[in-house]
Amino acid sequence: MSDALKDTKYIMRKYNISANKSLGQNFLINDEAINEIVDAAKISKEDLIIEIGPGLGTLTNKILEKAGKVIAIELDKRMITILQDRFSLYNNFDIINEDVLKVNINELIKKHKQNENIKNAKIVANLPYYITTPIIMKLIEERLDIESITVMVQKEVAKRLTAQPGTHLSGAITYSVNYYCIPEEVTVVPNSSFIPEPEVESEVIKLNIRNNPPVEVKNVENFFKLIKVSFMQRRKTFINGVTNSKFMSKEEIKNILDKLGIAENVRGENLTLEDFAKISNEYIKNIEKIDESML
Ligand code: SAM
Repeated sequence: MSDALKDTKYIMRKYNISANKSLGQNFLINDEAINEIVDAAKISKEDLIIEIGPGLGTLTNKILEKAGKVIAIELDKRMITILQDRFSLYNNFDIINEDVLKVNINELIKKHKQNENIKNAKIVANLPYYITTPIIMKLIEERLDIESITVMVQKEVAKRLTAQPGTHLSGAITYSVNYYCIPEEVTVVPNSSFIPEPEVESEVIKLNIRNNPPVEVKNVENFFKLIKVSFMQRRKTFINGVTNSKFMSKEEIKNILDKLGIAENVRGENLTLEDFAKISNEYIKNIEKIDESML
């Protein structure tokens, strides 16, 4: 029996805990997968690790051995008592009993980086699958002062997050991830690695935060809006998606594609990050021209 399985069974029995499905509780019991997450995150004593959803503390246990400081954010009150008991001897461990989506993570990082022993912040988690997308979007869009995000997610989601933009696996989130990060696949984890077993396969991925975006975008809000509308109607051509959402007139978008040498029947999922940047920049240039002519 693996150490993680032994600990999990013991803690669940001791505290009379059963997994709460609606909170996405699938406890990791695979020692190998735990080690792979920790190794991929490259944790050192100079790191502040923010763990989302520590649960019974299986992953936390390994992270604490390596990190300078660990802050665990957990929504389920029952887990807080367990974590406090389990790690009572550690003075580099804090728990926040809150919905991660409501936590001001940047403030936490700022506070702890004032401690001169902490040089970097990293996110590590076996994420609750029911809110994977909002958590990832929060972590990357808030431009947190972090080096990387190493997380277990549903395999299908992992494929989307790590896809090359402009390929059939890409969705709107693929572009956000690639704009802010360099994604990497770490390892696939079978269903049998959890109690209870999830219905889907899992995968560990690592998002390495970029210092600078890979493309120059004049108006980031417009750029992401353009991507979003073109994926809202995935089966339609890019032109139809954009015009149906009233983002631009058919004539406007046709002229832009023409000027950039992009085929009129292209679909959103075939456009690269560079293509979207060029289209968005061209649109902004047109708007600026209109504004100037009105002066
Ligand atoms: N880290 C543990 C492990 O690997 O065994 C548990 C992982 S389990 C997949 C997800 C954890 O996220 C659960 O402990 C759950 O209670 C917690 N959780 C669910 N929703 C949350 C939220 N909105 N904010 C913080 N934690 C949440």
